[in-house]
Parts: sequence; structure tokens; C-alpha cells
Amino acid sequence: MALYCENCMKLVDGPSCRTCRNRKLRPVEPGDFCLVAEVHYMQAEMLKELYADNDIPCTERSVLGAGITVNLGVNVGLTRLYVPYDRLEFAKELYDVYFNGATETPSEPRELLIGCVYRHFKGGLYRVEDVAKHSETLEEYVVYRKLYGDRSLWIRPKAMFLSPVDREKYPDAMQEYRFEPVADEPAGTPE
Ligand SMILES: [Zn+2]
Repeated sequence: MALYCENCMKLVDGPSCRTCRNRKLRPVEPGDFCLVAEVHYMQAEMLKELYADNDIPCTERSVLGAGITVNLGVNVGLTRLYVPYDRLEFAKELYDVYFNGATETPSEPRELLIGCVYRHFKGGLYRVEDVAKHSETLEEYVVYRKLYGDRSLWIRPKAMFLSPVDREKYPDAMQEYRFEPVADEPAGTPE
């Protein structure tokens, strides 16, 4: 059972708190606010929002102390954030995802919108006509029509159609994906 230092609001693993030398430790309770992070003021604001979005109660203390903070302005120094012990693990996970991308979950697979107009990252507009299957490999291909020039019909593997822009080849591309759906844009001229 983890022990809790009320002075420092954190979990302690020894017989006394290494920070404040407090020896009157007690077993931690679910509602005890525990230190989750010590971060810059701006990061603290982002974390507080993240915790609020996930219904994690959160309190804070300025590391410099209230008096100094008022004199120097709140954007100086570090902020310590505390969450209840029973939400501590989750709060730490959110912190890791936010600042390190450590346990980031893979994003949802993108959905192909048949009949929708897509913009290629180089600017051209195309309408997705349908999905076809390759007779030999059974791989799915997107069938799409150029909405400019000769308005020709093209196919491309679906996985590739939905893939992100190659950032090494095209570092200045203005969109994240090779093709992105366009909302209500007149089917017409690009570039
Ligand atoms: Zn302490």
C-alpha cells in the first residue's frame, strides 16, 4: 500500500518523505490529491483542459509560491498539478500521450466517400466514382475521375488513395493526406 505525504501531496515509498522529511505518513486514499506533473504554465493550462475533458478533478500549485507569482506574473515558473489518487494512473497516461505521444493509439482507418469530390495535394479535383476489385489479387482500387482537363478516369489502390502525403518527398504539401474530401466545392478547375 502506497503511503501519502499530506504536506507534499504525493506518494512516498519510504518511511519518511524525502522532500519535506515528514514522517507522519498515512496510507493513501482514493480521493487524495497526488502530484501528477510539474510543468510550465502554458503546458499546465493545456493539461488542465485535457483533464477537464476527461472528468478528472485537478488542482494546482505554483512552484514559486503565490506571492512571487503575483509579482512576476503568472507565466513565470512551473506549475504542479494534482489529481485524486484513483485517477492518477489515467492522468499520467494522458500526460504521456500529450507530451510524448508515447502510448498514442493508432487513428481510425479513413473512410472512402464514394461520389465525393477529393482534392489531390497538388491541387487537382477528382470525383470518386466507385471501388473496384482487381480480378487477380482481389486488391481494392478507387476509380476516380479527373474534374478538369480531359476528365479521364483513373484507378489507384485504395490504401494508397487514402494514405498520407509522403512528407519526405513533399515537405511543403498543404494537406495531410494525398487526397482529401472537399466540402461542396464546384466540380471544376484546379490549380
Ligand atoms: Zn512531503
